[in-house]
Formats: sequence, C-alpha cells, structure tokens
Amino acid sequence: MTLTNIPPTAELQAIDAAHHMHPFTANGALGQKGARIITRAEGVRLTDSDGTELIDGMAGLWCVNIGYGRTELADAAARQMRELPYYNTFFQTSHVPALRLAAKLAELAPGDLNHVFFAGSGSEANDTNIRMVRQYWALKGQPERRVIIARRNGYHGSTMGGGSLGGMAAMHAQGGLPIPGIVHIDQPYWYGEGGAITPEEFGLARARQLEEQILALGAENVAAFIAEPVQGAGGVIIPPDSYWPEIQRIVDTYGILLIADEVITGFGRLGHWFGSQSYGIRPHIMTIAKGLSSGYQPIGGSVVCDEVAHTIGQDEFNHGYTYSGHPVAAAVALENLRILEEENIIDRVRTATAPYLAQAWGSLADHPLVGEAVSRGMMASLALTPDKAARAKFQAEPGTAGYICREFSFGNNLVMRHVGDRMIIAPPLVITPADIDELIERARRTLDQTHAHLQAEGMLKAAA
Ligand SMILES: *Cc1c(COP(=O)(O)O)cnc(C)c1O
Repeated sequence: MTLTNIPPTAELQAIDAAHHMHPFTANGALGQKGARIITRAEGVRLTDSDGTELIDGMAGLWCVNIGYGRTELADAAARQMRELPYYNTFFQTSHVPALRLAAKLAELAPGDLNHVFFAGSGSEANDTNIRMVRQYWALKGQPERRVIIARRNGYHGSTMGGGSLGGMAAMHAQGGLPIPGIVHIDQPYWYGEGGAITPEEFGLARARQLEEQILALGAENVAAFIAEPVQGAGGVIIPPDSYWPEIQRIVDTYGILLIADEVITGFGRLGHWFGSQSYGIRPHIMTIAKGLSSGYQPIGGSVVCDEVAHTIGQDEFNHGYTYSGHPVAAAVALENLRILEEENIIDRVRTATAPYLAQAWGSLADHPLVGEAVSRGMMASLALTPDKAARAKFQAEPGTAGYICREFSFGNNLVMRHVGDRMIIAPPLVITPADIDELIERARRTLDQTHAHLQAEGMLKAAA
C-alpha cells in the first residue's frame, strides 16, 4: 500500500487543529497533541497516516458491525446514486429503497413492530420518539401524559431531545438541558452502586424506582419509559437478570409506552437481531441507527408497533427530516442487512464469537487492576480499581486512571475506550477468535503498563 497522495501526518494534524472542531473533545488540548489520522480500514483493522495498523475494538463508534471494506455496500451506494441519489418522502411520494428497508425491518423486528419512521441518526430518531409518544397520547385523549422517564448515565444522543433523555451529567451541564418533561431514575449498575446487596436484589430495587417515579408523578401524567437494553456509552453496564422482567411488569401494569433504544444493541450486537429479543422485552418503539448500515451511511429510525403507528396515522404528524429514509443510505442499509442475514453473522455471534469473547475477556478479571470483567454479546467492559475486594474507586479524579489506560491502549495499537475508570470494547461482529486473542493480549499488556504507571506515580490509592 502506498501513501504517496497523503501529506505527512504533522501537516494533516496542523490542518485538523486549525479548522476541525471534534465532538466530545477539548479541542485546544487535542490541537496541541495532534489527532491520530485514520486513512484506511479492512475487516477489524484500521490504518493510520503513518501506516500503523490498529485493532478497532470499538467498531468505529459501536457501528461497523459487518467490519470494514465490504465493497458490496460501496456498489449499492454507487448504483443508487446513479439511479436516484435523492428524493424526499414528505409530500405523498415514496421511493423503493425506503419502502423496501421499512418492510425488511418490519420482518426482522419482533412482535408487531411493523412500521418505521426514518431519521438520519440515533439522536434524531429519539427526538422523533419524544414527539411521537406525546402525540400518541394526545390523540388518545390523554394529552397530560407527557413525562418521559429515562435513566441517569443513559445515553440517547446529543441533540436537545436526545441529550435530555440521556442522563449524562456532563452533557446536562452545558446548553440548558434537559428540556422540560423528562425525569431520570437511577441505573442498574450493581458493581458501582450496588453496595452490599446481591445483584438480583439490586436489579429489582432499581427497576422499582420506575414504579416509584410513576406513582410520584401520577401514572396519568407519564407517557413512556426509555432505556438501552445494555447501556453503551455509560460504560457497558449490563443489568442484573432481575432488572428487565421487573421493568416489563411495571410498564404493563401502568400502561405506559416502552421505548427500547437499540442504537447499539440492534443488528446483532447481543447475538439476536435486537437486544429486546435477548432480554425478552416487548417495546412499543425501538430506536435504531449505527449497525443498521454498519456505519457506512448515516441513517437511523424508530420502529413502531401497530397500535402507536395506527394512532399517529389518524392525523398529520408535523415532523420529519430532509434525509428521512435517504435513498442511498437506505440502499446501503439493505445491503448491510442482507450480508448480516446471508452470512449468518448474528448466529455466529450468539453461538461462537460471543462465548469466546466472554471467556477471553473474563480472563482479565485476574489482573490486579481489574475489579470486574464482564460481557454480553459483543459488548464488554472492565472496572479499574486500586482495591479489588472492596470494588474501590480511585482517590484520583474519576476517569484519570481510565484515561491513562486508554493512552497505553492506543500506544499498543488497540482502540479501547474509557468511560470514567471503566474500559470498554464493542468490536465488529465479524471479529475472529484469533483476532480476539490478539485483542486480549494487547489489553493485558495495556493493563500491565497502566498498573506499573499508577504504582510508580503513587496512584494506586482508594478514595476515602
Ligand atoms: C449513539 C447512540 C445514540 C445516538 O446516535 P447518533 O447517531 O450518534 O445520533 C442514541 N442512543 C444510543 C443508545 C447510542 O449509543
């Protein structure tokens, strides 16, 4: 491979620093340091502008489910661009890619989730959901049902609506979030917040916060509950087994709508088409994006049950995006779904790759710096700790150890992300056992280096 048409890294970094504002980044500091410039990718591996290869433990941003370099998707995009690069679906028109993708999603989705409202991203889809559930209740003659209950440390995107549904304190601190009518309950994070009770008891207790919140607000004021089957951006928080059945019971009891945000857990990441199937839950709406196109094109949407879709259909829904159901994005998504299905990628995750990852990742639990190492499907996380037995937090500012660990990981050519002092991965679903072995070897080396560094700096101290 040649890099002859790419300027040297330092030059690219200088241009980037001068003009490009990165999301979720302190751009001043990044400008000083220089971004790592990714130029190519194939399978589960990225190549940077120096020609160095990295294992992408995060599948981009949890999205490249089928891996990089699938030329079928490029061909599908090119074909569609030549035939019909754009048309809208607003004014009593439709086009073939959008209607075929909607039908395919209806076929794959569980239960009577038979209708799709398209968006350009997961955030947009969640904005749609806010308006859709409130409009649903208004059409049902219960307009006072407006409050949406969500969770602290949940992630539902970065628009005003998505960021408000999300429970990220750092996001709420900027720009006037959350918008009115959204309240948050606590997350089912046993390792970090469960204290002395068992995970099962804790899962029940956290689920019952939903019931307490509904009763406090008055059920007649509550429109919906939204949650990720497994929290992603919050640190790959896997709920105790007792959690989701209790949530389902509460949602059923009070007749509120359940929105499963499947932006990460959809399209095979938990070994089923949707995380809701993996947990046996029955949402009225699922948010989708990311793996829908394996990230090859920006597209998202809301998959909606018969009852909600038919009710919304009784009146004009004054909502939509220029790129709702974009034909090129929809054509690429269809090709992505074809590959996921025909190559049995999701079955392989469930029966082979995820169990392999669980064992390999779980082996990191014996490391002196690791408090827990857990996974579900192709999402995995570990907690860094100065004191395993106590599940202790560090004395240093939360995220300090995690950031150091992430830097070592990047240096070892493994993309592993940190959320506070949790380290997380969510690799492409096509990762092989041999690749997983290599990933684990780099992760273990990273933990060793982090441990030695924290020790040398006197930072292996627990918070008081
Ligand atoms: C990424 C994500 C979103 C937001 O999707 P964007 O495409 O970035 O707008 C919403 N919900 C969850 C669970 C996500 O992980």
